[in-house]
Amino acid sequence: MSFDSNYTMTIDGRATLSSESMDVLNPATEECIARVPDASLDQLNDAVAAARRAQASWAALPLARRQHSLDAMADLLASHTDDFMRLLTREQGKPHADAKAEVGRCVHWLREYAKRTLPVSRHDDGAGHLFETHHVPIGVVAAIAPWNFPMTLAIWKVAPALLAGNTVVLKPSPFTPLTSLKMGELFRDVLPPGVLNVVSGSDRLGPWLTEHPGIDKIGFTGSTATGRRVMQSASSRLKRITLELGGNDAAIVLPDVDVAQTARALFWGAFRNSSQYCLATKRMYVHESIYDDFSRELVAYARTVEMGNGAAPGVGLGPIQNRMQYERVKDLIADAHRTGVKFLLGGSVPEGKGYFIPVCILDNPPDDSRSVIEEAFGPVLPLLKYRDIDEVVRRANDSDYGLGGSVWSRDQNLAYEIAGRLQTGMVWVNHIHVMSPNAPFGGQKQSGIGVENAMEGLQEYTNVQTRVTLIN
Ligand code: NDP
Repeated sequence: MSFDSNYTMTIDGRATLSSESMDVLNPATEECIARVPDASLDQLNDAVAAARRAQASWAALPLARRQHSLDAMADLLASHTDDFMRLLTREQGKPHADAKAEVGRCVHWLREYAKRTLPVSRHDDGAGHLFETHHVPIGVVAAIAPWNFPMTLAIWKVAPALLAGNTVVLKPSPFTPLTSLKMGELFRDVLPPGVLNVVSGSDRLGPWLTEHPGIDKIGFTGSTATGRRVMQSASSRLKRITLELGGNDAAIVLPDVDVAQTARALFWGAFRNSSQYCLATKRMYVHESIYDDFSRELVAYARTVEMGNGAAPGVGLGPIQNRMQYERVKDLIADAHRTGVKFLLGGSVPEGKGYFIPVCILDNPPDDSRSVIEEAFGPVLPLLKYRDIDEVVRRANDSDYGLGGSVWSRDQNLAYEIAGRLQTGMVWVNHIHVMSPNAPFGGQKQSGIGVENAMEGLQEYTNVQTRVTLIN
């Protein structure tokens, strides 16, 4: 199997091309690295029909067979780790080390889902009735993944959907379809035809898929604006939805921290994946008594991290993934200049090939500035001063988003108490971005609906069925 060419969709277990195709660019060089099929509506209909045909027999298999399939998928991915690592870096831009970690995460998640069973709960009402609650599959799932973590965010939907007995139509972002198309190709060997279909296409494909009458459930990760459109499409047939959307995560740094150590950890909390991360720290609140020391450490550490082509050794940060996002981030930088915000680091964008935006750290911009309110999704970080805890909690919560956050202090109890006051689905104390397949992840407010991962995430790919029988 070549990872450098022959990108085909998977429909009903078969390699499928299309009469139209799209270019895929390497964001570090802006070179076209592949042409992939741009699915037609007929082809999408074929994929959904194949998924429907396959669903009943897939669900009827013993759970152990589906668990075994997930393990086989994990084995296949693991045996091609370096191929996927290189391909992911070429299409997404992230450094090889981060790409390898992403492949490893997919393997780990598949293996953990392969161990899961769906619980049946029983209740005897004492009046001769036994209530048994089962989790049954929903039907055909549309899995829609964005371009920042194309493999992880696909597997987070595909694995629970398949384990629960659903079949899937996976649509990667048109900016990063290559790893998903290759996963589809690889998994043809271990999944029955129609169980996992992978379709690539341009901007028309997402709405076709979410509005399709043959889809029963949508698992979506992307922007809040698109999440609203997905919800609207789902409403016509009351499709089930799980939406993982944007975030504007705050980090709260108390005055007693080890400044150098915390600045270093939070540098990666804010800038890993060049900040194209829903859970990236996007507002960093530092107590006024250590603000100057902290900003010096953060800037000094930032200067040691190399930005460049993710395939080159020693590179810690890659490019922005696509031109649209690159222009958006540049506009945010221009706005900070226009409104007189001081830059502690960065502020200019070099000419040349590749969507590179050097790390920008902004010096205490006003709370109503765009850099504080908006989700940058690029390496532009406002560093903000605060004086007391009630004030910083209020400012951290003053957002339409509620995805994640972190609190940093030597006083673990105090930090834990502050963490509990944040209106977010995820919050870390004295570390950041550790995720587990066994812990649910989801957003409050406009950061999403529902959760991914853990038993709660798995159950989102099921309907509840309560069976009531008579006890003799
Ligand atoms: P979108 O949210 O628009 O796209 C995410 C995915 O949804 C893509 O596969 C996209 O395909 C698809 N999509 C778009 N419209 C629809 C629709 N109506 N129905 C179904 N699927 C649809 O992200 P963008 O690429 O436009 O990025 C915009 C912003 O989103 C970024 O600036 C960032 O703030 C945020 N974002 C958040 C992510 C997260 O992890 N929470 C991930 C990526 C982006 P297509 O591109 O063809 O429209």
